[in-house]
Amino acid sequence: MGSRRDAEALVDALGASGAALRPGGEEDAVGGCVPRIVAVPPDPGAAAALMAAAARHRLVTVARGHGTKPVWGGVPERCDVLIDTGRLNGVDHATGDLVVRVGAGTPMAELEAELAKAGQRLSVDAVVAGSTVGGVVATGLSGPLRLLHGPVRDLVIGMTTVLADGATASSGGRVVKNVAGYDLGKLHTGALGTLGLITSVTFRLHPVPPARRFVRVSVEPGDSAAVCDAARALRASQLVPSAIELDWPVDGPPELQVLVEGAESGVGRRAAAAAALLGGRAGVGTEPPEGWGELPGAPDDLLLKLAYPLTGLPEALDVLRSAAADAGVGVAVRGSAGTGIMYAALPRSAAAEEAAVDAVSRLRAAPGDGRASFPDAARAPRPRHPHLPGARDEIPGLALMRAVKDRFDPHHLLSPGRIAGGV
Ligand SMILES: Cc1cc2nc3c(=O)[nH]c(=O)nc-3n(C[C@H](O)[C@H](O)[C@H](O)COP(=O)(O)OP(=O)(O)OC[C@H]3O[C@@H](n4cnc5c(N)ncnc54)[C@H](O)[C@@H]3O)c2cc1C
Repeated sequence: MGSRRDAEALVDALGASGAALRPGGEEDAVGGCVPRIVAVPPDPGAAAALMAAAARHRLVTVARGHGTKPVWGGVPERCDVLIDTGRLNGVDHATGDLVVRVGAGTPMAELEAELAKAGQRLSVDAVVAGSTVGGVVATGLSGPLRLLHGPVRDLVIGMTTVLADGATASSGGRVVKNVAGYDLGKLHTGALGTLGLITSVTFRLHPVPPARRFVRVSVEPGDSAAVCDAARALRASQLVPSAIELDWPVDGPPELQVLVEGAESGVGRRAAAAAALLGGRAGVGTEPPEGWGELPGAPDDLLLKLAYPLTGLPEALDVLRSAAADAGVGVAVRGSAGTGIMYAALPRSAAAEEAAVDAVSRLRAAPGDGRASFPDAARAPRPRHPHLPGARDEIPGLALMRAVKDRFDPHHLLSPGRIAGGV
């Protein structure tokens, strides 16, 4: 932890930026690393001055939104200055253009409420209360609506960031058709703050659909292939589902859940057609099933991510479930059967850690396009499992990622080591 003199020296170095500064405490720790100082810039100009001063003193900065996923991706090697984005907030809604420009520290719930007044929405699932716009974009996570609307990066049409040396960079703009220059907003989406501090984002919006239906059907346990076949049939149909989810609890049969949205008359008909396609036992309702869009399991469980093409998903699920069964531990699976992005949770125990490592090792050794990973360092097996194939140097595109990192952040001052491979 930073000493008083250390904090005073940092205040001298960073004070002129205009950011509010205070010594870091245990409650600010990023994966066990207590920042020497916490800085709260009041506006993007102060954020830029802060980053420039930090760079001059070769201080490592780490961005924090609401702090719900501080070690998603990995634990940074160092954290000198924690930049709290809480005051980089504000919503500028161009209602007629279906576009919004929003400060990175704005809570997603606040953005949603503002857009709802005009009958519009950002078609991104806000999965945790308090999540900020910057956190959602920087983690690049997606929920059920990704099936119809694509990942977060597809809804980002402009972004302003502060780069490692304090320079402000804007890309895109306030119109949906925007083709000039590199689309740097896409690069920062999912980069976990390793390439710059996001200060504001411009999104394209959609009207809130007037009606919705959830179609649900239980599937035979152990028949992962049937689940994926049904998801494929729905995707290939003309029913245009907004989401196709799978919820497979530890102690119950898997349930396939389909969301259809649109005008009242059409929605009823499409939901009935989806139910017919899924077989006679399917039910239709207007409220989301429990846990819709949330990660499976409890917050302390081990968490795995499976990102697979639909053709490879049944095998991946079978490998995971058989590893868990062999170890005598339960596994809960939830996520998008429509896009092949699933999460699995195993209550933490030595046996569960062995099972999770075994499953991920087997999946990584198997041929095919999918990828199994531990996305959150706080919910990964402990480091007594040092080697997982593909955990570091075998990551596809790593050389390119390193080259981009070196170009954007030559002194590795932005959350260094956050992304696997040391980026
Ligand atoms: C299906 C699904 C379900 C989920 N369910 C849960 C759940 O139940 N519970 C839960 O806790 N999470 C859940 N998540 C994760 C959740 O989406 C993230 O926790 C949240 O989006 C992060 O927002 P935050 O403001 O808390 O960011 P933070 O946790 O503060 O930051 C997250 C990352 O973004 C970086 N960052 C933040 N702001 C900026 C910025 N302005 N510029 C650059 N980098 C920045 C940080 O450095 C860090 O790397 C779920 C995700 C998915 C896909």
